Amino acid sequence: MAIRIIVLLGAPGSGKGTTAEKIRDRLGAVHLSTGDMLRAAVQAGTPTGREADACMKKGELVPDDVMVRLVEDRLDEGAAATLYLLDGFPRTTAQARLLETCLTARGGSIARVVFLDAPRDVLIDRLTGRRICRQCGMNFHVRNIPPRKEGVCDACGGELYQRPDDNRETIENRLDVYASQTSDLIDLYTKRGLLSRVDSAQGADALAEEVASIVQPE
Ligand code: ADP
Ligand code: ZN
Repeated sequence: MAIRIIVLLGAPGSGKGTTAEKIRDRLGAVHLSTGDMLRAAVQAGTPTGREADACMKKGELVPDDVMVRLVEDRLDEGAAATLYLLDGFPRTTAQARLLETCLTARGGSIARVVFLDAPRDVLIDRLTGRRICRQCGMNFHVRNIPPRKEGVCDACGGELYQRPDDNRETIENRLDVYASQTSDLIDLYTKRGLLSRVDSAQGADALAEEVASIVQPE
């Protein structure tokens, strides 16, 4: 058995991270979020983190070579037969090609690409209202998924914060970057017969169920 990949593809706010967290255990999959990996690198002050910080603050993409190194290192840490839920990667056609090369070298493959599709106004609403637990990373939303106590995580009691790139101006830029650099991947993976589209404007639980049924049909 070799590495198998499920790519979660979609704009910022489309629910990639939330969905991955909801379904990873039952799939026996490892959730790889490149955004989370970069934020950890920024926190730790590594050279990669220092390079990524400025890009992320502006809502620009981190250079492809940096991203591929990051993902490749992580794939090599796991067991050979691991199933990965890739969230936030690939994000450019160059990254898609580099991922292909990296998988071919390891005898791995992409099992499915799930495109989480939602209109721009839904994405903006989700991102502007998003709050995240500092301790356990759980996601909330000021109106859609409010915590029982304002500013406090239901799961662990940790403090909720707003990501620095979840401000209106940076959100608009991230959505534009997605439209110009990432949305081409929809075509690319459709042509390869790997893409399934889901309506990600539905509730988080229903979305997770639909994605799970696509990637694990039995
Ligand atoms: P979102 O999808 O909501 O923008 P992420 O946490 O996935 O949030 O990504 C946050 C930021 O991290 C991006 O705006 C970008 O700067 C950087 N990033 C994450 N993944 C990649 C990637 N594959 N290539 C380049 N930059 C990335
Ligand atoms: Zn928490």
